[in-house]
Amino acid sequence: MKPWSYCLAGLLAGVAGGVCTVAAGGGGNVAHRRADVPGGASQPSPGRGNVVPHAATTATAGRLPEVVYPPDTLVAASARAAESLRARLDDTCTVTVHPPFVIAGDMPLGRLQQYASWSVLRPAEVMWAAYFKNKPDKVITVLLLTGERSYRSWAKRLFGDTDVAYFGYYRPELRTLVMNISTGAGTLVHELTHALIVYDFPTVPTWFNEGLASLHEQCTVGDSDITGLTNWRLPGLQEAVRAGRLRPLRELLTCRDFYGRLQGLNYAQARYFVMYRQQMGLLKKFYAHFRDLRGKDSRDTAGVEAIEYLFGKAFKDIEKGFLDWVAGLKAQASSASDGRENLSFPLSVQVPIMYAKVRDGPYLYVGCLASRHGCVWEHMPTPGGRAGGLQKAFL
Ligand SMILES: [Zn+2]
Repeated sequence: MKPWSYCLAGLLAGVAGGVCTVAAGGGGNVAHRRADVPGGASQPSPGRGNVVPHAATTATAGRLPEVVYPPDTLVAASARAAESLRARLDDTCTVTVHPPFVIAGDMPLGRLQQYASWSVLRPAEVMWAAYFKNKPDKVITVLLLTGERSYRSWAKRLFGDTDVAYFGYYRPELRTLVMNISTGAGTLVHELTHALIVYDFPTVPTWFNEGLASLHEQCTVGDSDITGLTNWRLPGLQEAVRAGRLRPLRELLTCRDFYGRLQGLNYAQARYFVMYRQQMGLLKKFYAHFRDLRGKDSRDTAGVEAIEYLFGKAFKDIEKGFLDWVAGLKAQASSASDGRENLSFPLSVQVPIMYAKVRDGPYLYVGCLASRHGCVWEHMPTPGGRAGGLQKAFL
């Protein structure tokens, strides 16, 4: 397996049983619960080829001195990386700099700034606030390409990558996300989670790394929290629970075979076990405890012990509670019509939606037209993997 494709292995693997035929990183939406756009007061004028630096934040006067982030060295490194990247792009592309991020895409700068604000900066800010106390000290590059042809073309031109996943991929050695953003922002936030967690939890085991990243495929982003919602991985998981063929939870946590034969179900099981702790109000506490414990204890069973400590129960009782919760979980996406209609956005803003096209295969494409949120196209798999019935997107 290519080193950069580690977390996207599930893209091509269906959940066992054929109920859900898309796996990791597929689609998903990111909704925001705050009306203002970060950085909106200093929006640059749109234009191709601009590189817009973002000033470092400083400590608030009157408080104890805080660590300034990003540090000057990272600001300078980001500016250099942006200039270097800009020289490799053409006039269809724009670049914006928000250290540690250098974000580029084949789109006008205003649209790129919207993506940067809503799908990179806000999710990163809340992940830092909620989970990650250590922020990156190196530049993270995010490339957002607006169509499959452009995405594949730039992947080849910049990195020589030809066999790329449909939704996008992450090159950890270059700290670079390359995204086919026409498939939705959920994949971007999934990969962003991987790019950020490594600076705070370098020994994170795969099941938790993928579980948390997958949780963020479909989420709402508030002022200081990011909350995962149900998504297309649920029906396949529920079917496996009903059929009694879900692997024991202890096995998922302790066997190093996440990307093996059961990877589709592994993604679903890990995602919803992380979501279970979120629903119980224990996820942040678990994350901090588990990170600190793994720093001292590299045993695979450390996760089991951390969970027992957190819940104050035997693991078998925790697993029973989890399975009961999964069985009764209701999907937050509703089914149904086609054509254009308005959906209730969490911000109480009516966003025009148009179901754009249905490809052969498991994907349904829905569009969020020209909204102020920078959401351009999203997609969801259709029920049962069929391209038939249209689904209403839950934003
Ligand atoms: Zn992943």
